[in-house]
Amino acid sequence: MVKYIVVTGGVLSGLGKGVAAASIGHLLSYDYKVVPIKCDGYLNVDPGTMNPIEHGEVFVLDDGTEVDMDFGHYERFLNTTCNGRQNLTMGKVFHELYEKERKGEFLGKTVQLVPHASGHIVDWWKEVAKSQDADVALVEIGGTVGDMENELYLEAARSLRSELGKENVMFVHLTYIPIPGGVNEQKSKPTQQSVSLLMQRGISPDAILCRSREQVSDSIKRKISMFCNVPQNAVIGAPDVTSVYSIPKGFYEQDILTVIKNTLGLDAKPDLTDWTKRVNSILFPTKKTTVAICGKYTALEDSYASVVEALHHAGAYHDTSVEIKFVDTENVVDVQSAKSLLSDIDAVIVPGGFGSRGIEGKINAVRYCRENNIPYLGLCYGLQLAVIELMRNVCGHPDAHTTEVNPDTTTPIVDILPDQKNVTDLGGTLRLGAYPAILSGGSLAEKIYDSAGLGVRNSLLTVSERHRHRYEVNPKYHKELIEAGLKISGLSPDGRLAEFIELPTHKFFMATQAHPELKSSLQKPAPLFVGLVGAAKKY
Ligand code: GLN
Repeated sequence: MVKYIVVTGGVLSGLGKGVAAASIGHLLSYDYKVVPIKCDGYLNVDPGTMNPIEHGEVFVLDDGTEVDMDFGHYERFLNTTCNGRQNLTMGKVFHELYEKERKGEFLGKTVQLVPHASGHIVDWWKEVAKSQDADVALVEIGGTVGDMENELYLEAARSLRSELGKENVMFVHLTYIPIPGGVNEQKSKPTQQSVSLLMQRGISPDAILCRSREQVSDSIKRKISMFCNVPQNAVIGAPDVTSVYSIPKGFYEQDILTVIKNTLGLDAKPDLTDWTKRVNSILFPTKKTTVAICGKYTALEDSYASVVEALHHAGAYHDTSVEIKFVDTENVVDVQSAKSLLSDIDAVIVPGGFGSRGIEGKINAVRYCRENNIPYLGLCYGLQLAVIELMRNVCGHPDAHTTEVNPDTTTPIVDILPDQKNVTDLGGTLRLGAYPAILSGGSLAEKIYDSAGLGVRNSLLTVSERHRHRYEVNPKYHKELIEAGLKISGLSPDGRLAEFIELPTHKFFMATQAHPELKSSLQKPAPLFVGLVGAAKKY
């Protein structure tokens, strides 16, 4: 029998429901197969075409589904690989419902939000749990209770519990405990009100997680317990932390597993030794490294969430803190300004991106790193801009460009390949998801993946990373790049696409067309990030 843990949120958005759910999942994952499911209220089919400034990073799964950042937390905390069926959006729910109706599956009936739409959601959850052989399905309902767009998910959760019973469906509610200015006292009223909103929907929480600046006091726990109908040991503090990776231990120490055991009968006994060791290297590092992320969405750090996480994972591996400096490349007007903006850093990342804003600045940053032997890692756009920089400044084609920005360039070193050209539907035309690359023998890329124990070896090493891009390095120019000293150290299996590049004469100059940050976790840091931080340390 699958056990369901449904996580809802109250009072405010942005409290870290995904991290809280993932932390609970982490504690259970040592003994049980935990399958996360995320339910988003928006009517977009997926977040692929949403602006990262509005919505944070777009995360990509192995199967190519674009999902929101919470899947990053799930995969990192649960050491699992998710698929697209684990993300429901109202866009997808209505789309499927409409198709069912047209196929005549409701023949004779009036199709209604309840029970048909809500029932479709319940069936979806069950199907995911079954198809993955889940012991525990961890269902996160997006938004804040009271939001109109998430009502159907709440109704689905209520009916699931009434169908399967309290011993199979547990409700966990994350709320916020403010300390109003001038009062200097934690307040429980918003929590009482949000629980009351849940109760109006037929849901009574079994545990309440209290996000707050500092740990919630016992008197607040007592009050919440009394007014919200939960045992006092089921009111769990979720204070602000330096590192999200310390949250599972915080819940563990407050004995959340007993609350789960009392409700669902699950008897988890996680061994947190290795996890704690790695968290401690983040919390108490012995060294310090500074890495610049040169991008255009620097105003919202969430748009580079996985890159940031991957850096912390690599830092924990090397027992160094990684301080991140966000550099808005619109300010990097020439190599001189790159020099002054990057003077105090140990390594540079140019992350993924789209369009023209800030890209000359990124190219200046690449040049500064190349010419001054500063460790550089290019991710996707960061690879494309690195080859543009080489083409312009080493091969002598000052006009070299990507056709994404300059369709009329005489040297289209980065271009859409002929078989992709007739695509007009922006919502689903990217090269998305996991693709293999074959690494060349003796390359730095091979060495780095080998020492992480990743990849499959025949005579050469094949590695798999996730992608999200439209453009490619134009194969017509591979030869010229190689003659200029570039090593194309990873190619697609058909030998056509440059997946990894490096400069062998440089201390560490690597770039990939993929997004290795999407598969990094504290326990398995992404090899290229480990390489970069290692090189930065030496530097
Ligand atoms: N804009 C580039 C492309 O579409 C790079 C995308 C990215 O960095 N994710 O190919």
